[in-house]
Amino acid sequence: MKRLVFLGPPGAGKGTQAQVLAEAANIPHISTGEILREAIAENTPLGEKAKDYMDKGELVPDHLLLDLIRERLGQADAQNGWILDGFPRNVTQASFLHEMVCQDLKQSYQALYLEVPDSVLITRLLARGREDDNQEIIARRLEVYREQTEPVIDFYQNHNCLNRINGDRQMSEVTKSLEEIVS
Ligand code: AMP
Repeated sequence: MKRLVFLGPPGAGKGTQAQVLAEAANIPHISTGEILREAIAENTPLGEKAKDYMDKGELVPDHLLLDLIRERLGQADAQNGWILDGFPRNVTQASFLHEMVCQDLKQSYQALYLEVPDSVLITRLLARGREDDNQEIIARRLEVYREQTEPVIDFYQNHNCLNRINGDRQMSEVTKSLEEIVS
């Protein structure tokens, strides 16, 4: 049974790698950014609340994300495993997930941290061309990452479930390393 959390800065390759692993294991790839973008496209109340934050490169408020994750991990297709990409984004979210999975559900999971140098990230993000991938917003997203998301690395290190992977390599090489860790 695979339950995995992808960590790393924007542009580290979390989405790409999460998708490959999820397909191979036949479990859902749950990207909170993707869910929020869909909510915006469909003009749902969640989308309306999230849009301004996302446009600015800020994190969407925790209570919206905690409800979203609780509900998503409770769905039928997530009962045999899941891969999270983009959640947790701060220590509040990490503590919430950890408590829900380890204490309430008595399950375990692993964190996979894709390490990539800043210069590579910026080149990758600019090439991706998503709406929130212009230079100014990228800079803010990296700043938010350093301030709020990086402490999540220590959180998992302290809970002895952090795996560090060099993400600055060919996509297939990164996938191979990940498969070795999670197999
Ligand atoms: P991503 O697709 O993971 O790069 O996320 C795009 C944007 O969605 C982020 O810049 C945030 O505004 C928002 N977002 C995604 N996941 C979260 C989360 N776990 N907590 C707060 N905001 C999030």
